[in-house]
Amino acid sequence: MYEQDNGIDMAGISKNGVEDYLLEVSDLKVYYFTSRGVVKAVDNVGFSIRRGEILALAGESGCGKSTLGYALMRLVPPPGRIVGGSIKFNGVDVLRLSEEEFRKKIRWRGISMIFQGAMNSLNPVMKIGDQIAEIFRIHLGLPKQEGIKRARELLKMVGLDPEKVNAYPHELSGGMKQRVVIAMALALNPPLIIADEPTTALDVVVQAQILNLLKSLQREKGISMIVISHDLSLLAEIADSIAVMYAGKIVEYGSSDIVYKNPQHPYTLGLIDSIPRLSGEKTELKGIPGEPPDLINPPPGCRFHPRCPFAMDICRKEEPLIVELKYGHRVACWLIAKR
Ligand code: SF4
Repeated sequence: MYEQDNGIDMAGISKNGVEDYLLEVSDLKVYYFTSRGVVKAVDNVGFSIRRGEILALAGESGCGKSTLGYALMRLVPPPGRIVGGSIKFNGVDVLRLSEEEFRKKIRWRGISMIFQGAMNSLNPVMKIGDQIAEIFRIHLGLPKQEGIKRARELLKMVGLDPEKVNAYPHELSGGMKQRVVIAMALALNPPLIIADEPTTALDVVVQAQILNLLKSLQREKGISMIVISHDLSLLAEIADSIAVMYAGKIVEYGSSDIVYKNPQHPYTLGLIDSIPRLSGEKTELKGIPGEPPDLINPPPGCRFHPRCPFAMDICRKEEPLIVELKYGHRVACWLIAKR
């Protein structure tokens, strides 16, 4: 049994361990300083990612998962900022780098991000090839011709006809545009890609194709990924491990199989119960009653307690301890801690 801040993080083994992690996040805090008060969007979050691993970040809207992605890119929009913790990438604490050093060495070259809805932000009056070539011009100073050549290779890598360099965004389907956005994220060969809701607004068939593409990029190129989504069933398909976030904190972490098939935290159970089943007996779809809390004034103790059917007295007063079960499965819940 471990306390929240005891040198053991939710998704790693040990901060001092010998595992070869690409990314190690410790005690990260990202707050938004609004006129209403301080929104604690990410509050003491810690996790680690090995090389070639896909980590899924799951949770409802507003739980802090996208803010966490922005923080890793050091692109938290104002009035937000990182107020504590560390982000080690390849052993370097990137929060200690100047903005210029981070931009030159880490952002896009080390860690890149597929932003939510990015496929709708492609420039409508520029050909796809020109948009990708811009990345090579800006970051590597390559002439347009060389940039277009590389754009063709990237389009092929993401399963598109290289001739699409000559297409405008409106000539592509939603799935094709999402592949273009993935190609852009791959342009500078980053070892880590963050994909924020990469399948939102796509139909189910295209969703599966995009997930398969991400999985094959991980397998073939050894890229590590953080895939952010509210859809736990979808994440379980491709992720090696899952971190479930609630109200700015990771409440359950483990291998994808364990978390999806043997969830222990009541919130994870609720998320899984909310997924419609296509086979088996017809059952009423359950939801999680209530709303996520206001992060300006989160509930004391366990932040999930106002919605939790198992809440006990201690849950209303004290933050749950993180308990390590088998195979690195970690849960922050008094039900488990008191067993
Ligand atoms: Fe529910 Fe208590 Fe566990 Fe929180 S700590 S999830 S309130 S049982």
